[in-house]
Amino acid sequence: MSDRTDVWLAKSLERVLTPEQVMSGPAASRVYDCDAYTVKRHHPHAVVFPRTTEEVQKVVRWCLKNEIPFTPRGAGTGLSGGALAACGGVVIATTKMRRILEIDLKNRVMLAQAGCPNLRLTRAVEEHGLHFAPDPSSQTVCTLGGNICENSGGPHTLKYGVTADHVLGITLVDAQGEVRQFGGKVGGFPGLDLIGVVVGSEGTFGVVTEAWVRLTPLPSAVRTLLAAFPTPRDATETVSEVIASGIIPAAMEFMDGSVIEAVEAAFHTGLPTDAGALLLVECDAHEGRLASRTDQTIPNEPNERRDTTDDAEARVVAEIERVEAIAREHGAMSVQLAEDEDARAKLWTARKKGIGALGRLAPTIVTHDGVIPRSKLPEVLDFTYRIAKEKGIRVANIFHAGDGNLHPIFLFDDRDPKQVKAVVEAGEAVLRRCIAEGGSVSGEHGIGVEKIDLLAEMFSKEDLRMQEKIRKVFNSGSLCNPGKILPSQKSCVEVRLRHKGIAT
Ligand SMILES: Cc1cc2nc3c(=O)[nH]c(=O)nc-3n(C[C@H](O)[C@H](O)[C@H](O)COP(=O)(O)OP(=O)(O)OC[C@H]3O[C@@H](n4cnc5c(N)ncnc54)[C@H](O)[C@@H]3O)c2cc1C
Repeated sequence: MSDRTDVWLAKSLERVLTPEQVMSGPAASRVYDCDAYTVKRHHPHAVVFPRTTEEVQKVVRWCLKNEIPFTPRGAGTGLSGGALAACGGVVIATTKMRRILEIDLKNRVMLAQAGCPNLRLTRAVEEHGLHFAPDPSSQTVCTLGGNICENSGGPHTLKYGVTADHVLGITLVDAQGEVRQFGGKVGGFPGLDLIGVVVGSEGTFGVVTEAWVRLTPLPSAVRTLLAAFPTPRDATETVSEVIASGIIPAAMEFMDGSVIEAVEAAFHTGLPTDAGALLLVECDAHEGRLASRTDQTIPNEPNERRDTTDDAEARVVAEIERVEAIAREHGAMSVQLAEDEDARAKLWTARKKGIGALGRLAPTIVTHDGVIPRSKLPEVLDFTYRIAKEKGIRVANIFHAGDGNLHPIFLFDDRDPKQVKAVVEAGEAVLRRCIAEGGSVSGEHGIGVEKIDLLAEMFSKEDLRMQEKIRKVFNSGSLCNPGKILPSQKSCVEVRLRHKGIAT
C-alpha cells in the first residue's frame, strides 16, 4: 500500500472519529505489528481508538464500505497472533474503552467496557469481598474483551472455570456492522447459546464492546504452599496424585529450573535456586457451600448446613496438609507454607512475573500452549525437553499444571532464521504430541495465525466446514480479522487482491 493511500486512510478515519483517535505511519506500524507472539509480524495501516459501541460501529461500517480489513485488539498480550493485522488494514484497539458501567452487588454482576483491564474489574469490587475469577497471568494489562475472545484461563481456572463460565451478556458489533446483544444481566437465557459461540471466537465475529460478568465471592480461608522438587517429573507426578486424592486446589502451578533462575535474577523473591522444579499450590474454601465451578455459594439452601468460617479454615488446613504429604511422598526437597498475605503475594508475584522474567534470558521468547490429560504431564514434559535439545534451543516450562495446560517457552534469537525454524518445528512437535495424547493444540491462548495448520490435524474436514458455517453467520465476508483460526482463512492473498491494493 502506498504512502498516499496510507494518508487517505488515516484522514478518512479522522473524520469518522477525531484526529486524536487515529494513529498511522511508522509509530502505528512498529507498535502494532504483532502481539506477544512475535514470530509473525504484519503492520496495520492505521490504528483507531474508539470510546463507545457507536464509535466502533462507525469504524466497522466505514471499513465495510471501503472494503478495508479490520482487526479487533485489546492489550495485545495474546500469544497466538490473534490481534495481528494479518492482511493489513485497520486495527480497532479497545484500550480507550476502559469504563466500568455498572456494579450490581446484590446480584453479584458487573457491566464493563471491553477494554477494561482484567485486574481493574477485581479492584473495583474486592472491598465488597468479590472478584472477577478468571485471572490470566497477564491480568494487570490484558482486557476483558481479549479474555472473552480467547476464552482465557489463569492459575485459578482449575477450581473456578475459564472466562466462558463468568460471562453473562455480550454487546457485539458484528462483522456486518450491526450491534447485537446476547444474554444480559442474568444467566441462562433461553435459546441457543450464542454467548458460548462468541466466547473464544478470537475477534473473527466482530468487536465485543461491553459485557456483563459474574462476580465471585473471595474465599474466606486460603492456604498457599511452595514445594521444591529435584526434577520436573517429581513435581508433575505430584499433580496427578493430588487430584486423584479428591482435592481440587484453587490453583496448582508448575515452574522449572530455568524459570526459577530468571525470576530470581529479576525479582529476588527467594525461590529455592537448587530446585529442578516448583509447584505452587493454593487451597481455598468459602463460608456456605461451593456449588459449582462458577463459584456461586448457595446462601440458604434448605436442609443444607452452611459452613462457618471456622469450618472453611479447618477444611483448607486439612487439604493443604494432605497436599504437603503427597509432595513429600514424591520427593519434595522442601515445602514452604505462606505464613501471611505478604508471603502469599510474594509467591504469586514470582509465578505471575515468570514469563516476563524469561525475557532476560534470550532476545526472543515464544510461549506455546497445549493441553493434555494431566496424568500424561510427566512424559509430555520430558518430550518438550528432549525435542528442544534435539533442535538446539533452550526451553523453559511454567504452566497451569492442575489443568494439564502445558506452556513450553522457547528462548532464542529471532534475528537468526535457523533458530526461528527450529522453534516453530519444536513447538509443532509438542502440539502434535498433545493431540496424540488425546489433548488439544490450545488450552487457553487460542489458534490465531500460529496454529492454523494444526487445527486441520485436530478436526476432520466436516468438523471444520461446520465451524466455517458458524463463522459465516456472524462474519459472512473476509474483512473481519482475516487469516485467523480456520485453515480456510489462511491465505490473505485473496483478501489483499480484492481490497484495493492493501497488499504490502
Ligand atoms: C506474560 C503473559 C502471561 C499470560 N498468561 C495467560 C494466562 O495465564 N492465561 C491465559 O489464558 N492467557 C494468558 N496470556 C495470553 C493473553 O494475555 C490472553 O489471551 C488475554 O486474554 C489477551 O487479552 P488482550 O486484551 O491482550 O487481547 P489481544 O491480544 O489484544 O487480543 C486477543 C484476541 O482477542 C481479539 N480481541 C481482543 N479484544 C477484542 C474485542 N473487544 N472484540 C473482539 N475481539 C477482540 C483479538 O482480535 C485477538 O484475536 C498471557 C500472555 C502473556 C504475555
